[in-house]
Amino acid sequence: MQTVKIPVSLDPVRAAASKSSYEGLIPGKQNKRLAELSAGDCSDVVVSLECGVDLQGIVYLRGKAVTELTLLCQRCMTQYATEVTVDFCFSPCKTQTEIDELPDAYDPIECNEIGEVRLHQLIEDELIVAMPIIPMHENDDCNMGAKDIAVGEIETAQEERPNPFAVLEKLKSK
Ligand SMILES: [Zn+2]
Repeated sequence: MQTVKIPVSLDPVRAAASKSSYEGLIPGKQNKRLAELSAGDCSDVVVSLECGVDLQGIVYLRGKAVTELTLLCQRCMTQYATEVTVDFCFSPCKTQTEIDELPDAYDPIECNEIGEVRLHQLIEDELIVAMPIIPMHENDDCNMGAKDIAVGEIETAQEERPNPFAVLEKLKSK
């Protein structure tokens, strides 16, 4: 296992043929889109990656990425740090047929004209998708406690629902 910087781009077929694996970092400041979506800087992303070919001959890049992001709690409006982790398993595809036939365990990725994938960008994409949609502290950590952030009045659904017994009563009285 090499301890290296994670390559910016990589040829998955070649990396799989040589069974390359990586343990390393993507510097946090490179993740401009992630930083923009969070309330502070993105810390370095710790990545482990294994390249190989499975029993069906499918080339894969399997790994895990972990980073810490500063987010703004939408309940108490203060910042907090949270860890975001993604597990990924990519497989390069050239045609729609290849994408269609790819087992569900794999996510199709596209290679550029020289057969490489932009690894940093792919991992950043995955982390963005894994970000919480509404960032919020855990209940115990939040300045607003476990208060719900419901907007507007909560309708009492019970009142709207006809009482099934009332219907029965009506039937009986007929
Ligand atoms: Zn909070």
